[in-house]
Amino acid sequence: MKRTLTLILILALLPLCSCGQTEEHGATVFAMDTVMELTAYGEKGEAALEAAKAETYRLDGLFDRRNGDGEIFALNQNGGGEVSDDTAGLLRKGAEICALTGGAFDMTVAPVMDLWGFYGQDYRVPDESELAAAMEKVGGKVTVEGNAVTLGEGTQLDPGGIAKGWASAKIIDIFRENGVTSGLVSLGGNVQALGSRPDGTPWRVAIQDPDGEGYAAVLSLTDAAAVTSGDYQRYFERDGKIYHHIIDPSTGRPADSGLRSVTVVCRDGALADGLSTALFVMGRDRALELWRESGNFEAVFIETDGKITATSGLRSLIYSDKEIEFFE
Ligand code: AMP
Ligand code: MG
Repeated sequence: MKRTLTLILILALLPLCSCGQTEEHGATVFAMDTVMELTAYGEKGEAALEAAKAETYRLDGLFDRRNGDGEIFALNQNGGGEVSDDTAGLLRKGAEICALTGGAFDMTVAPVMDLWGFYGQDYRVPDESELAAAMEKVGGKVTVEGNAVTLGEGTQLDPGGIAKGWASAKIIDIFRENGVTSGLVSLGGNVQALGSRPDGTPWRVAIQDPDGEGYAAVLSLTDAAAVTSGDYQRYFERDGKIYHHIIDPSTGRPADSGLRSVTVVCRDGALADGLSTALFVMGRDRALELWRESGNFEAVFIETDGKITATSGLRSLIYSDKEIEFFE
């Protein structure tokens, strides 16, 4: 009788336990031109998701360069102005990554992106003189003093290389502030993990195979972001040649550095996003030099011949059916 009673008690308690920290709450949001999946565990998950969704739409409104009510739109229109902490922070972070990567990340590539037709999807290959004219406007000054921004003559901003990373970092902050300790956000090629999975094991994040639907490798992540930039994410084809959306600011052309994709792993989602774009432009060897100097990120490179290489900090955190070469 006593044993039966204990069993009934255990069975009655089990569902209660599973609604504690393991209850899954999910939301799908369409913003920043991508489908975003937000997942938060635990009883505070639902409220955290609601706050995170509102914040995502707010940031999308601020950063969308086509939104007439947005701050990036207004800066591009007026050559400067007063902005919110988020926009000022985003621009400061962008400038930091620009300096760190020797200009490989540069939000002032907007006139060139426009010329190639990436904004209206009216794709075209510009001729030399058009490209030279647009390049005059790339690399201009972006000054941020407190919340006041001033752009150089003709300078236009494109926050597309960092906005999703900024948003994912903010979403994770909101999860934390709402008492969530386990969650995941996936915004296109940007993934950021809060803590570990509810069972204590790391999150598993796949790196897409640039040639297909499958994956090339899987990362184990705890409290980190993993952001992939790849030539297959947005591109068009003309006369048998592929033109993708990651521009080398030194040439005004799609970067041609021997890579199909770069995945950056680090704690700061915005840094991971900006760096993934920059490292794609820099190519593997320059990226490795930066990794050795800075030591605050790890990276996975998929090269044009399909070879996978990675920085040594990922040795125990990456799995692939293919061989991976590690760099020290
Ligand atoms: P991502 O997908 O994060 O690599 O970012 C690519 C997007 O960032 C493009 O669609 C452009 O909006 C913008 N972009 C392209 N080239 C650069 C660059 N060299 N530096 C900063 N942003 C860029
Ligand atoms: Mg990026």
